[in-house]
Amino acid sequence: MDSPSPCRSFSCQHRVLNWKYGEPGMTADHHQESNGEADKSVICTQRPQASISNKWISAVKTDPMISWGRWAGGSWLSAIGCAGISIFGPLLVFLLWVALEDFNGSLFASLSVFWSKGLIPFVVRFAPQPSVKACIGYVAWLVFQATLYACLPGKNSSGQLTPAGNLLKYNTNGLFAWVVTHLLAVMAAISGILNPAMLAKHWEGLLVAANIYGLFLSAFSYLKAYIAPTHPEDRKFSGSVLYDFYMGIELNPRFGKSWDFKLFHIGRPGLIAWTLIDLSYVAWQYQLHGFVTNSIIIVSILHAVYALDFFINEDWYLRTIDICHDHFGFYLAWGSVVWIPTIYTVQVQYLARYPVKLSSLSATIILLTGLGGYALFRSVNHQKDIFRRTNGQCEIWGKKAEYISCNFKTQDGLNHESLLLCSGWWGMVRHANYVGDLVLSYAMCAPSGTTHLLPWTYALFMTLLLMHRCSRDEQRCLEKYGEDWKAYREKVRWRLIPGIF
Ligand code: NDP
Repeated sequence: MDSPSPCRSFSCQHRVLNWKYGEPGMTADHHQESNGEADKSVICTQRPQASISNKWISAVKTDPMISWGRWAGGSWLSAIGCAGISIFGPLLVFLLWVALEDFNGSLFASLSVFWSKGLIPFVVRFAPQPSVKACIGYVAWLVFQATLYACLPGKNSSGQLTPAGNLLKYNTNGLFAWVVTHLLAVMAAISGILNPAMLAKHWEGLLVAANIYGLFLSAFSYLKAYIAPTHPEDRKFSGSVLYDFYMGIELNPRFGKSWDFKLFHIGRPGLIAWTLIDLSYVAWQYQLHGFVTNSIIIVSILHAVYALDFFINEDWYLRTIDICHDHFGFYLAWGSVVWIPTIYTVQVQYLARYPVKLSSLSATIILLTGLGGYALFRSVNHQKDIFRRTNGQCEIWGKKAEYISCNFKTQDGLNHESLLLCSGWWGMVRHANYVGDLVLSYAMCAPSGTTHLLPWTYALFMTLLLMHRCSRDEQRCLEKYGEDWKAYREKVRWRLIPGIF
């Protein structure tokens, strides 16, 4: 396969990293040569062509201190789970559409017809149909967003040190792209060029087009990881084709040096589409019923706050699990282009067809609860971000930040130091940001009322996602930091709610 790169290249690379110590994204990790002496005097400008050898792959399987972020899954059970999600994910989003379109938003009614009719007759009668117009529109949308991503100016940002020791640069221009896209959409709607409810009206064809692209992107990313990997040494092989297809092989696949698959797909066809779809369904509710309800407005406001937060803090997002640790397979590829636009907008899809009018009191309570959840989410994430950016030299709630220093190794065998915050929210529980996110998720679904399960799919999904994330992130941190992580767990005992969990 690939030939191992000379050790000299790796140490050279780490001298660059040392020299850059102090930049955002680098502040969390101190880089030391194995002998413990940090060398900040040598600057190497040549990026090594690092690659991975079979020998190294077997080394990471056996050395727990260098397997963090690398070796996972592989059991037949996880492979079956991955295959199951890859098959049932698309079926579920189609089923939700059928329930909304043909069964008054009732999942149970659609499922009972499914059982009584059988798979084939059900699919023939109800499955969403492709449309040439929607396919062309979808491709145009992707090309437009890809152009904005490649061309708009933005901030030069850094990610976080990868397990192989790469530090990637990003052009974070998401907010600019969000503003340009929404301005153009509003202008096109006002001038009558486009029907403001266009996305809602063509959702059936768009859903099919997005699924085709999501599957294509997953397969393409899988093959690219073997044929033309961007950072060969940052690939993860589990030994299971199904697991690798689902969880991904490449950590940060790119076209060229900077066109990043992950940041583009999560942010653009994923999150920019989110608020655009919301607006379209608000317009559609008006066209269908002649009024716009407070419930759909509240959901859209909470969605917009969350999506805009992502773009305003895009630099922060580069140091979250999605970008730093999750590899790019079906989970992120199909998830970004199908799951986000479908499941994250499910409440407005429901409310546009089946309006709910909330009392002023209910509307106020739900809105304030959602904004409260968001405030917690942002405050917790901000604490970690500022702490890591300043390398622990900051104040949290008016006091000097408390932390534990941890050691970890990258695959080149070099030792590094990282810091774990133990004060503020991070001193109360280990994942307070997930608590804020969950409160916000339930508030986003509450305006739809309790008559149907379907609009609550988003909150249920977030609960499963974040609970699962808690345990897989902790497992990875344990592998990365070993005894230091155990010391952190001793100090901050609870995961989400003090005294309970
Ligand atoms: P975190 O931002 O909490 O990142 C976890 C990582 O932070 C760990 O792997 C570790 O990485 C580092 N870390 C852990 N504890 C500490 C500490 N005490 N001090 C400093 N660093 C620490 O998690 P996520 O990336 O999962 O989530 C980020 C946000 O995004 C959350 O608010 C989450 O709710 C939200 N989210 C939303 C989703 C959505 O679809 N709506 C999906 C996923 C997340 P290391 O040490 O290796 O740097």
